[in-house]
Amino acid sequence: MDGQDGADGLARQLALHREQCVHCGLCVRECAFLQENGTPGAIAANRGGREPELAFACSLCGLCGAVCPPAVGLRPDRLFLAMRREAVARGRADLAPYRALLFYEKMGASRWLAGAFLPRDCDTVFFPGCALPGSRPDLLRALIAHLRRNMPRLGIVLDCCTKPSHDLGRQEYFESRFHGLRRELLARGVRNVLVACPSCHRVFRHHGHGLRVSTVYEHMEPLPRAGHPPVEVTVHDPCGAREEPAIHAAVRRLAEAGSLTVREMEHHGARTICCGEGGAAGCVRPEFARQWSRRRKEEAGNRRVVTCCAGCLGFLEPLVETSHILDLLLMPGAALAGRLRISRPPRTYLNRFFLKRWLGKMFAGCQRLR
Ligand code: SF4
Ligand code: SF4
Repeated sequence: MDGQDGADGLARQLALHREQCVHCGLCVRECAFLQENGTPGAIAANRGGREPELAFACSLCGLCGAVCPPAVGLRPDRLFLAMRREAVARGRADLAPYRALLFYEKMGASRWLAGAFLPRDCDTVFFPGCALPGSRPDLLRALIAHLRRNMPRLGIVLDCCTKPSHDLGRQEYFESRFHGLRRELLARGVRNVLVACPSCHRVFRHHGHGLRVSTVYEHMEPLPRAGHPPVEVTVHDPCGAREEPAIHAAVRRLAEAGSLTVREMEHHGARTICCGEGGAAGCVRPEFARQWSRRRKEEAGNRRVVTCCAGCLGFLEPLVETSHILDLLLMPGAALAGRLRISRPPRTYLNRFFLKRWLGKMFAGCQRLR
């Protein structure tokens, strides 16, 4: 699939880590999964080929690669993704713990929830992903109205980017599903995709050949300053955007223009830590997922956390006061007062169903793909 996300075969990744890891322990210091299993070099040498299924406990967050000395430059997350793929390809992966996640993915691409609404001559679409439409549908409606005021020919595509299957190592399914969507968009004249979700961004960026992807955060102008006194917040950068400084900067620019003062946590930007949701590791080793969330809460202290990922929002919000950056822009008073509620399943499915109906009315007479 790509060099970026670890598409290299397992044999190459094993050789790379076996031969180049200097066992410095910098990544181990950061990660409970590695503390249990040893350095990536040791895993590659001793267990990687024989036990590819152990990689399902890794969050695929990429922090190990961010702290690996530049002279070594290993990306252990790519090794663990290659191990997952190998386990799936050999029929050795037990996917039963991911049943709910795979149902969620399947529903996201179903005729109930997916749809594309394309005005005439539309070459740019907004692809909101799954988490934001499900958990914050009123926010998404406000965002769509806001975007369309500036971009009247903007289309909307409701669908799933299939990142869950990608991360679970279901490579064949991911490729057929995502590339089908990509071809469909290109055939309809779409060339630019705006996303709100860092995971969708990562998928389109690495696999959406022919489509230019960017986030809404990079395009949005700050709204008029909110009429609340300055509030100190901290930013949780999602691991899906670890290598995207433009997204980090855009979120901070929008936050600070909205009368918020950003005080950074120890782990931010390229060295951010996972919220706990990454790689669906929590489905098999919840203690590893909890370890990330706990660290996030400790680093945030008593400051409100701001994030641009609806998945991270849902994961962190029960632990620490957390807001989506779009909430702080479009509904600042309610967000800072903690009055906004995040929907949880099964309500999320209903929210998405009604969102599709709402869009159907808004785009009556426009081209529809489903
Ligand atoms: S959980 Fe994150 S830091 Fe630990 S091995 Fe996996 S990708 Fe690396
Ligand atoms: S940081 Fe890099 S060199 Fe050091 S143990 Fe981890 S993978 Fe090996």
